[in-house]
Amino acid sequence: MSENSCFYGSHVPQPITPAKAAAHFATITRHRLIVRKLCFECGLYRQGMLHDLSKYSPEEFLVGARYFSGSESPNNEERRVRGYSSSWLHHKGRNKHHYEYWLDYSVRMIPGGYRPVRMPGCYVAEMFCDRVAASKIYRGEKYRDSDPLRYYLGSTTARFLHPDTAALLEKLLRMLAEKGEETTCGYIRTHMHKHTLEQELHSCGLFCNG
Ligand SMILES: [Zn+2]
Repeated sequence: MSENSCFYGSHVPQPITPAKAAAHFATITRHRLIVRKLCFECGLYRQGMLHDLSKYSPEEFLVGARYFSGSESPNNEERRVRGYSSSWLHHKGRNKHHYEYWLDYSVRMIPGGYRPVRMPGCYVAEMFCDRVAASKIYRGEKYRDSDPLRYYLGSTTARFLHPDTAALLEKLLRMLAEKGEETTCGYIRTHMHKHTLEQELHSCGLFCNG
């Protein structure tokens, strides 16, 4: 049985061309640069440097180059062709800023079932930066600090998050909408960074490894 029939893909895969590979490379790199700038503002230097690096791996890059369209994630077209996205599965399993990374089996509350694990604060902060960067690229000149919150509230994301993770992400997005990027990144830098680890662990349990 072929992979297509197995996973109910319906489209025919397109060839990889140098132009699509170059455009995909530029898209990834542009996104990474915006996330890096935001992460640095938040004091997350290591995460800012490493963010989404796996997108340059052959498993992810070649899929992105093959299905590049410029109007949506190449993973969606891979889903239409293969029935699932091998690139996304590779990505979410290696990048801790994705909440999908933090889904695990429960052996207590729901035996044998999946449940979201509480995300460390530093990865919630990186997820925040990722979402802001995505909104900036998507909205372009029209971007407003309220866009990432509006997008989050209009999505189904919260139901897949641990309640503490959802509360923290929403708090940061609300702060961004109401007080702006500088204040919010400053808050992350001072309240969720390594040197405040002790206090944070004792107060609200949010922590970050820098
Ligand atoms: Zn990512």
